Amino acid sequence: MSQTTKTTTLLVIGGGPGGYVAAIRAGQLGVPTILVEGERLGGTCLNIGCIPSKALIHAAEEYEKARHYADGSALGISVTSPSIDIARTVAWKDGIVGKLTGGVAALLKKNGVEVVQGWARLLDGKTAEVETAAGPVRIQCEHLLLAAGSEPTPLPSVPFGGMVVSSTEALSPADIPKKLVVVGGGYIGLELGTVYRKLGAEVAVVEAQDRILPTYDAELTKPVAAALAKMGVELHLGRKVLGLNGKGNAVRVQDASGAETQLPADRVLIAVGRRPRTQGWGLESLQLDRHGNALRIDDQCRTSMRDVWAIGDIAGEPMLAHRAMAQGEMVAELVAGKRRHFTPASIPAVCFTDPEVVVSGLSPADAERAGLDCLSASFPFAANGRAMTLESTDGFVRVVARRDNHLVVGWQAVGRGVSELAAAFSQSLEMGATLEDVAGTIHAHPTLGEAVQEAALKALGHALHI
Ligand code: FAD
Ligand code: NAD
Repeated sequence: MSQTTKTTTLLVIGGGPGGYVAAIRAGQLGVPTILVEGERLGGTCLNIGCIPSKALIHAAEEYEKARHYADGSALGISVTSPSIDIARTVAWKDGIVGKLTGGVAALLKKNGVEVVQGWARLLDGKTAEVETAAGPVRIQCEHLLLAAGSEPTPLPSVPFGGMVVSSTEALSPADIPKKLVVVGGGYIGLELGTVYRKLGAEVAVVEAQDRILPTYDAELTKPVAAALAKMGVELHLGRKVLGLNGKGNAVRVQDASGAETQLPADRVLIAVGRRPRTQGWGLESLQLDRHGNALRIDDQCRTSMRDVWAIGDIAGEPMLAHRAMAQGEMVAELVAGKRRHFTPASIPAVCFTDPEVVVSGLSPADAERAGLDCLSASFPFAANGRAMTLESTDGFVRVVARRDNHLVVGWQAVGRGVSELAAAFSQSLEMGATLEDVAGTIHAHPTLGEAVQEAALKALGHALHI
């Protein structure tokens, strides 16, 4: 087949949240843009990440609720013999994914972005070759945006295959295993471990560190650990995974003293992190500066090569969709000639466990490490009326503010539904709010958000409801 050549101003490699947002914004700004996607528009987030995991979390929660009511409930609700058809659940989840990825395709089209379907191979910093169904296409550009994302990190002692799966397979199960061993007590391990437990599997989590979600402070993760224990999820902390046993039906783990135990399993989910997708498509030949496995970028997402940009997971932590999107939007504006820098006051993070955890800005320990003299105060959901009506009084909201001028520098919360507080947290940080600003804002009653105002009041020494 003969080769076609195309030229463009901006060439985006990867149609995940970083790449597709960059392309949409570039299109809005009139920058001729081609986006190359090897698999499906929407990338990890829409197809095999954020969205499908949150859909399954919701389905599992609803099923658990039904089972809870089947056991009788103080609310007077009763349910008879709830059951779940996992094939229908997965089809429902796929329907949401389909709607969103179709929406991305429509938005790209509306904004004049040309999408080339196929895997790109870089020839140099201005040229890529794509194997498409219609034959090879060579694309030349002025600006190259690398948005190729990340992939699950394999564990050499328990390689992927058969019953050993990554989050991708775990999000489309044909059935629910009787015994699931999850390796990694981070975001994916705990979000999906909780899903499988609620869907009826016996779940054991093996974590190398001595506590779950080790990137968050211990006080925040305590309610999550307590809820997992109540649910019956076994936590094996500070353990090393040695491999599968001879029969392939148990995971061999070792504790700090060297003692070995076997955890029976008919499925194993490996969730020990993700690695930037930097190999196998010609990127190495560009010899870009690295930061560990990730591409090194500056505060405009420029790599070490002129007019070669990188955003999202390929540029390392935090590997979060909203960070990728914000970087993508900025790069498009820079390519269009606007003046921008990536200097957010915070990149919020949410772990959708039950209860959820949300952080934005500095924790008390972060503030101390940064040399700031701060005060912090927590308000418990046990003293919040809305939390009581939702039967979810575990958890709290915590604020961190400078002692001298009361500038808020961080928020943390743990509790059911607290993910939605991320907006208030990040807005207050971005707008430079003080404790007095938050304490003086009328918060609607009864809402979980009142705990935000009360935390600020408590930091000022006059909380009203505790
Ligand atoms: P990706 O979304 O990985 O997209 C990269 C795209 O590039 C892919 O579509 C890939 O096919 C394509 N590509 C790669 N190489 C080439 C090539 N050579 N040629 C053509 N195309 C190529 N983040 C959150 O913020 N919130 C969450 O709740 C959340 N949940 C998650 C749950 C799971 C199970 C997982 C795995 C991740 C989750 N994440 C979440 C992380 C989030 O998915 C990523 O941070 C985000 O998708 C990164 O976006 P990206 O654009 O950098 O890369
Ligand atoms: P993670 O970094 O959140 O957790 C990995 C965990 O595995 C860590 O606790 C680590 O200590 C542990 N670990 C590492 N090696 C181990 C080993 N050999 N044995 C036992 N434990 C080991 O990574 P993840 O859960 O795979 O998720 C990948 C990334 O995807 C996250 O960092 C996050 O950026 C993104 N993600 C985000 C969300 C969200 O925003 N809600 C949800 C899922 C994934």
